[in-house]
Amino acid sequence: EPDIISRKQHNISREQIDKGALDVLYGLKRAGYEAYLVGGAVRDLLLGLEPKDFDIVTNAEPEEIKAVFRQRCRLIGRRFRLAHVHFGRNVIEVATFRGAGDAETLKPSRRKTSHSRAVDETGRLVRDNVYGTIDEDIWRRDFTVNSLYYNIKDFSIVDYAGALRDIKKGQLRLIGDPETRYREDPVRMIRAVRFAAKLGFEIESKTKAPLYEMGHLLKDVSNARMFEEVLKLFHSGVAIEVFEKLRHFGLFTYLFPQTHHVLSQEEQGFPRMLVVEALKSTDARIQSGKGVNPSFLFAAMLWEPMLQRREQHLSEGFTHQDALYAAANDVIEQQIVATSIPKRFSSQIREIWSLQFRLARRSGTRAQRLFEHPRFRAAYDFLGIRAAAGETSEQELFDWWTQYQEKDAIDQVAFANDVR
Ligand code: ATP
Ligand code: MG
Repeated sequence: EPDIISRKQHNISREQIDKGALDVLYGLKRAGYEAYLVGGAVRDLLLGLEPKDFDIVTNAEPEEIKAVFRQRCRLIGRRFRLAHVHFGRNVIEVATFRGAGDAETLKPSRRKTSHSRAVDETGRLVRDNVYGTIDEDIWRRDFTVNSLYYNIKDFSIVDYAGALRDIKKGQLRLIGDPETRYREDPVRMIRAVRFAAKLGFEIESKTKAPLYEMGHLLKDVSNARMFEEVLKLFHSGVAIEVFEKLRHFGLFTYLFPQTHHVLSQEEQGFPRMLVVEALKSTDARIQSGKGVNPSFLFAAMLWEPMLQRREQHLSEGFTHQDALYAAANDVIEQQIVATSIPKRFSSQIREIWSLQFRLARRSGTRAQRLFEHPRFRAAYDFLGIRAAAGETSEQELFDWWTQYQEKDAIDQVAFANDVR
């Protein structure tokens, strides 16, 4: 009973599909398997957006996929066993249809290969390697708009969930009972926010209601996964909308508890402005195709909490150096309860922060040394958002460093010598 949208009725052409993904689809088809392009790629192509990645789903089991693509193929994952097919640097992810039911209710023919689907005591899905058919696979998709299947056999689109209607309405709707689906995987709550912001969609009311109440389940998600999700949220190019929505649903506190705390305590709007300026600058960089660094995001989110800890340590008699060092430690240590921060980023965060205090001391040869610091650029940009956020004393310093960088080496020396 799915709706089948034939090739004539939709506008997705093979030219728009990644070359590697097409090779995988045709390879599976030639080997006698079903193969579909699924999820975000189909959604984005229908909306006229450029897909980030091309995911494929098939009735071939991982070992069978491996047999088709041989040395191009690597099997990965334990929680979700997947095949990666490599074309140079391009990697296409291929999944086997997931079964819908418990292992007990599965067809006997499937049972021997389907060891494992498990839900823990809170209803969370911890393993899902039960294979199934396309009409069962649909239940492991989150939102209807992510559940469209493009069939390589006849180039039609298979729609089990009324996805096309939701796309037309601009509506984000979970498949199945929303509370159950959020309980299975709380990350779906922040995915809801990300897709709503990115696609400019409304969240349908039954999908929306639990977002106000179930945020606490995010505390059970591993901090490593939360780190990845935070990057997807804030490096989406629509970070400002994402931030507003997370705040609206009371979800932000589970991502950045200390930031949430200072935001709710400050009324004059200043720390909020810093976060907003940082996100605006991140969005602008993404929209113009420039790279973004996770350290910058975390340095901005945690700046005000860090300053408050620093004040506290100063009042306890710490030196400036020690107060900053201890405050950075405290704040990072607390943050990693919510989201991990890989070591290479936490050391960059510390550098960006400590440079904020060092950039003012720039007379003579100091300027040159600061300018050559590997984190100078990030620190300078950070100073820029502090100035933009209204730390008025920083505007002058930021302008000075802007002028400094516009000069050639000889003039830079003279310029730095003029600083008293
Ligand atoms: P993006 O544009 O961010 O890549 P996407 O929709 O492709 O969006 P992915 O995270 O790449 O999202 O996942 C691919 C597909 O897998 C989704 O479209 C969805 O069908 C399914 N999926 C991914 N994560 C989940 C989840 N947590 N719960 C249910 N289904 C999921
Ligand atoms: Mg994707």
